[in-house]
Amino acid sequence: MALQFTVSESTGRVGDAERAKILANPGFGNYFTDHMVTATWSDADGWHDAAVTPYGPIALDPAAAVLHYAQEIFEGMKAYRHADGTVWTFRPEANAARFARSAHRLALPVLPEDDFVQSLREIVAIDKAWVPEAADGAETSLYLRPFMFASEAFLGVRPAKKVTYCVIASPAGAYFSGGVKPVSLWISTDFARAGEGGTGAAKCGGNYASSLAGQLEGIDHDCDQAVFLDSSTHTYIEELGGMNLFIVYRDGRIVTPELTGSILEGVTRSSILELAKELGLSPEERRIPIQEWKDGAESGEIAEVFACGTAAVVTPVGELRWDGGSCDHRRDGHTDEIALKIRSTLLDIQYGRAEDARGWMTQL
Ligand code: PMP
Repeated sequence: MALQFTVSESTGRVGDAERAKILANPGFGNYFTDHMVTATWSDADGWHDAAVTPYGPIALDPAAAVLHYAQEIFEGMKAYRHADGTVWTFRPEANAARFARSAHRLALPVLPEDDFVQSLREIVAIDKAWVPEAADGAETSLYLRPFMFASEAFLGVRPAKKVTYCVIASPAGAYFSGGVKPVSLWISTDFARAGEGGTGAAKCGGNYASSLAGQLEGIDHDCDQAVFLDSSTHTYIEELGGMNLFIVYRDGRIVTPELTGSILEGVTRSSILELAKELGLSPEERRIPIQEWKDGAESGEIAEVFACGTAAVVTPVGELRWDGGSCDHRRDGHTDEIALKIRSTLLDIQYGRAEDARGWMTQL
């Protein structure tokens, strides 16, 4: 049976003037709306106690299993305000399915897709005023963060018998406030983010904790982000800490690392693979040796490289650096034409400026 959400409205809502000030320059992940969604799962009773409550701290027993064994998963998606004021989200069923796959991998209970989507509807319904107006093509949205964690107070190592599900929401400004700018990448060879048989394909907190040392190494080498290779041979490109990668060749091939079990299956990645043919490109999913990138940049066969994910949509990649060298596929007169075309195609669908031929949008 579908979860029924009780609603208790916040008495301490942020006022209109203060909210307007926040929405004028929200940045990313800094501010949160007036409410949150919670639900509880127990071994004995399944999912219950679904509620919309005022946003606020969660009381956790210090022995809560998540604090010790990181049994936790999350999702990231956006609510977009269209010109007519209606609010929509992009492929929520894909996020619900990935959340279920992550739950299986982390031995957490599965939240049914309908309850997942309903939880998004609940928070957007009560906090609709927090969905920014995306006037004049501004890429503003309300970022939605569903997550689930082991809340049972028990120090034995086994799947928790009590689990908490939450959704919080955070207004997000344009990812690139000064226009789209290429990022430089550092090849992390000392640190892997995920390994064979590990949790790389799940969206769990531990993967992000393990990516931080590689990110810091990249920053120490004046790079914006790190690109991770497969952990067993250090040969094949996997992904960034929070985005998938694509390489575009001059002959029209657009290649992304195949899903090996240690790469997160991005919703943006899957959408780009579907759109590519329409844009006259030939999509390929296969293992890509990092040497192929270095050689292609050198020979000029690579036209563009870009990263993709919900937050930035599509981000062009510029220089690639490693211990002892660097390469750059960009030549005089370089444009990131294809990356920017894919970017605007996706944004036009998300903001309701183009026909949604695939039924990717769901009204909240
Ligand atoms: N890889 C990782 C590790 C990520 O965290 C994300 C962001 N969710 C992505 C790829 C891109 O996924 P999506 O397109 O679903 O946002």
